[in-house]
Amino acid sequence: MAIEQGDVITTGKAKRLYATNDPELLWVQHLNQATALNGKRKAEIPEKAAYTNQISQLLFEFLNQAGIATHFVQRLSKTESLVQRLEMLPLEVVIRNYASGHFVSRFGVENMQVLEPNVLEFYFKSDALDDPFMNESQILALRLADTETLVQIQTVAHQINQHLKALFDEIDITLVDFKLEFGRTDAGQVILGDELSPDNMRLVDQSTGASLDKDIFRQNSGDLTIGYAQVLQRLQAKLGA
Ligand code: 5GP
Repeated sequence: MAIEQGDVITTGKAKRLYATNDPELLWVQHLNQATALNGKRKAEIPEKAAYTNQISQLLFEFLNQAGIATHFVQRLSKTESLVQRLEMLPLEVVIRNYASGHFVSRFGVENMQVLEPNVLEFYFKSDALDDPFMNESQILALRLADTETLVQIQTVAHQINQHLKALFDEIDITLVDFKLEFGRTDAGQVILGDELSPDNMRLVDQSTGASLDKDIFRQNSGDLTIGYAQVLQRLQAKLGA
């Protein structure tokens, strides 16, 4: 069956989701938009969508090949992909290998201090509440996930970290931290959704120390697409894409 684009389901800060003629599949359109401070600062950035979509494709395919189930089905164009429809859990899962961003401002530690063992944090996904930090007992009490699901998410998040850290190391990039979102398939399996790009991970060039991710925009320190292009080029060269 040829997949056809249906109605818009929702437009987020960096992506628009459409239904398709297959109830199990969604059409994701990445947008040329960058936001910071929970959407309070916004900018149109030409070519950004092509980078986030293509980097996501390469990283999802890499994880799929490593045996990690994700929602990614196929890339449709430079800026669009097809994904499996999931019932998303209202949680953000952050893994930190080095201190940066909110970890530095919250705990007053040195930027890029090694975090050993690494840190896993949960946040409640709510723009209205500014994505507050959440612990496991809060998640359980609010019935956002059960214990078994939480254990599974933590295990898979750590596996994803091992795979991505090793991959980025091979292309001279340090994976500082990243955010994941999980959702449930119709069959009840909890798998990785959302996107995997420099919009939701911190990446540092090992030879220059330069940021290659959305910190360039958050800190107003230059052209974000130069960093994203570096990440895409190196991944393409490494993964033979
Ligand atoms: P921090 O908590 O330091 O702001 O972010 C930690 C990591 O998670 C960073 O890589 C950041 O990009 C990602 N992250 C945290 N919250 C969000 C969010 O709401 N949206 C996106 N795209 N990434 C997030």
